[in-house]
Amino acid sequence: MTTSRTVLVTGGNRGIGRAIAERMIADGHRVAVTARSGEGPEGSLTVRAEMTDAASIDQAFTQVEAELGPVEVVVANAGITRDTLLLRMTEEEFTSVIDTNLTGTFRVVKRAAKGLLKGRFGRVILISSVVGLYGSPGQINYSSSKAALVGFARSLTRELGSRGITANVIAPGFIETDMTAELPEAQQKQYLSTIPAGRFGQVSEIAGAASFLAGDDAAYISGAVIPVDGGLGMGH
Ligand code: NDP
Repeated sequence: MTTSRTVLVTGGNRGIGRAIAERMIADGHRVAVTARSGEGPEGSLTVRAEMTDAASIDQAFTQVEAELGPVEVVVANAGITRDTLLLRMTEEEFTSVIDTNLTGTFRVVKRAAKGLLKGRFGRVILISSVVGLYGSPGQINYSSSKAALVGFARSLTRELGSRGITANVIAPGFIETDMTAELPEAQQKQYLSTIPAGRFGQVSEIAGAASFLAGDDAAYISGAVIPVDGGLGMGH
């Protein structure tokens, strides 16, 4: 049994974030999720937050701190795609993805950092993607936002590593969620043929990695990229 912590998962109403929240609850943590719509899983506290708005993130943290105590484990999971080829991609399509996936992570981790420093403990877990390091046609905006999270976690490790705070990246491969259900069938088949495991991943498999990173056994792991992708990225 691992030490019980206060955990905040962004985008915990569905998909990977929801599965991470469920797993953290099962692990015995106090769990809050942010959601723009809907609710987190049973046993979690749902707070409203918009990743592009620092004030709403601040309010969400304040509510979680009041109800569950200082946040000790932050899972920055909320993210979007707006896929199209470079020549067709508008500046707005590029910057909106960066704003949610990268600057949103900055807003969340910055808000969390003071509390982590005060408690001299923190686990920062950033949900990136295999395409951040592998690349993907039609995803210049998304892959750029996800690759940047690696530099983010490593710089954070160098800034705060001596204060009991770790920062790591999980790089999921193709996981069955609403996000991937949107992809055309032909593209799904093409992806499947490249995955050594020969199947897509399940949200519970990402949750397992997050559970490990939040737990006592991961205290000496920081700045790492943990691929959970059926071998697609070959460990990057
Ligand atoms: P979903 O599309 O199923 O869920 C996305 C979540 O992010 C939702 O909770 C959504 O909230 C939230 N969100 C999106 N934009 C914002 C915003 N501006 N402010 C607040 N919340 C927001 O995605 P997945 O579960 O598939 O993906 C979760 C993470 O995992 C993402 O970062 C994604 O990039 C990454 N990932 C997913 C992979 C996959 O194969 N599925 C592969 C690799 C990485 P709402 O419901 O209100 O829209």
